[in-house]
Amino acid sequence: MAYVSGAPSGMGNACFLCAAANGEDESLVVDRGKLAFILMNRFPYTSGHVMAVPVRHTPDVIAMTTDEGSALFASTQRAIRVLSEVMHPDGFNIGINQGGAAGASTEHVHQHVVPRWAGDTNFMPVIGDVKVLPQDLETTAATLREAFSRLGPL
Ligand SMILES: [Zn+2]
Repeated sequence: MAYVSGAPSGMGNACFLCAAANGEDESLVVDRGKLAFILMNRFPYTSGHVMAVPVRHTPDVIAMTTDEGSALFASTQRAIRVLSEVMHPDGFNIGINQGGAAGASTEHVHQHVVPRWAGDTNFMPVIGDVKVLPQDLETTAATLREAFSRLGPL
């Protein structure tokens, strides 16, 4: 993955979240607002694993404005609402990995929203990089996109 150790600048680099934010790669984007958007994780821990992302390339939480932080949390709430409606999980893991030492794969802040089901613990990536996908990503994205659209604009 070329973006893992990419340049810190948000302009003209290979940041995959900037590419999603500016419309270069919208295939996994499921909800879009002025300051934040939501996209499916291409390498999900569970089915329905999405990320809430500030539109602006912000390298850490402190670099976000208060408005961006509010938009990020509002989009997180929308993700939980839609995933609850569509996938009926028993719980969620919600969180930000900041910095490579914490497991962040890019210097563009994003909040993971991972739906969880009772008894799914063996499904987490104990099998290395191989993740079983019970539902095709694009199909899930289309289903979620439709559900987000019913909520009105972010
Ligand atoms: Zn970026």
